[in-house]
Amino acid sequence: MRRPLPETGADWSDLKTRMLDYAGGDVRWREGKTAVYVFNAGPEVERVQKEAYVLFMSENGLGPMAFPSLKRMEEEVVGFGLSLLHGPDEAVGSITSGGTDSITMAMKAARDYARKAKGVKGPLNIVLPRSAHPAFDKAAAVMEIEVRRTPLKDFLADPEAMAAAADAATVMIVGSAPCFPFGLIDPIGALSQLALSRDLWLHVDACVGGYIAPFVRMNGGDVPPFDFELAGVRSMSADLHKYGYCAKGASTVFFRSAELQSFMIFDMSDWPGGRMVTPTLAGTRPGGAISAAWAVMNFLGVEGYRAKQGLVTRTRERIEAGVRALGFTVLGAPQLGLVAFSRDDVNCLAVWAKLRERGWFTSMTTEPAGLHLMLSPFHAEVADTYLADLAWALSAVTGQTAPVAVEARYS
Ligand SMILES: *Cc1c(COP(=O)(O)O)cnc(C)c1O
Repeated sequence: MRRPLPETGADWSDLKTRMLDYAGGDVRWREGKTAVYVFNAGPEVERVQKEAYVLFMSENGLGPMAFPSLKRMEEEVVGFGLSLLHGPDEAVGSITSGGTDSITMAMKAARDYARKAKGVKGPLNIVLPRSAHPAFDKAAAVMEIEVRRTPLKDFLADPEAMAAAADAATVMIVGSAPCFPFGLIDPIGALSQLALSRDLWLHVDACVGGYIAPFVRMNGGDVPPFDFELAGVRSMSADLHKYGYCAKGASTVFFRSAELQSFMIFDMSDWPGGRMVTPTLAGTRPGGAISAAWAVMNFLGVEGYRAKQGLVTRTRERIEAGVRALGFTVLGAPQLGLVAFSRDDVNCLAVWAKLRERGWFTSMTTEPAGLHLMLSPFHAEVADTYLADLAWALSAVTGQTAPVAVEARYS
């Protein structure tokens, strides 16, 4: 809809007031009642994110020669990720704008590898467990690659079904660590075996898990091997702006070798503007997203992440116990920060809607219908309130079975 740009400019202080007024209708995530979209590691981390972002807000990661600072910070952040995810000496990576960007670029690399290195002709496909993120479908739509989603077994990827779906035109098979809907780590070990035995490109989508799983394991959690430690894993995605607690607009994509990564990089000189080499989907890359990631990772360090992730897993365990006491079944055995639970004698969507009346904004699952929480360190302070409000919502809707209308999520 057209809207005239104001003829004259306004004072910043007035604009700030108006923007805060716009924000009046937003979820109050700083109070901890939001368990989707936002990762709340507390005010100290938020301050580091903000100040570090603003320092390099105008700088552009597209120009590493002009901004060696950003190049250096990117290399250091990528190095941290590779060391956390058992990258071999030859492994490399890039910072991207987000999980969708990381996944799209990994798929482009796998597609070009299939065409150029393996000589695959004709239509291509990708094999995903049903729980994999829609970012793969989006990238496949852009690249005209067929998507083959295979059924789950106990909420996890089924390597046998994936083996049956893959063929000579399969450019990539995917396992999630963890998947978003249930927060469960797929059997990456078995997928790695499959990839090695059939020479398939295995991508591990650790967008939501890459920066929590290593620390949960250091804390003694029961996390199975899921990263480059497994020889069949060729690429990985891990989002800094999720459990890395960095500012939004930052993810990492990793490759087992520079040779594999070379299929991702776009190198173009056939125009009047000279040669332009871009590793990721973006041209201009916000310097602030890179500098904030660098600052937060160095601010927290292993110790800080272990403490934050310990809070997350303890909160998840508390919530699991609480929802079980209310008659819900936890879907699978989550190990990280996401948990989904359902009760087939209760309309879970109605419970979800009821909880919104008390300010809770969370996610849902549909197969089966259930409630879904993506927990942040800050949730430790509100877990008991959540459980009390869940008990209240449950009693309010018990007996109600008519489906409630729920607006679409855009996540
Ligand atoms: C969030 C997420 C993505 C997509 O990341 P965006 O940063 O939202 O683009 C992909 N896979 C999984 C498992 C995710 O949780």
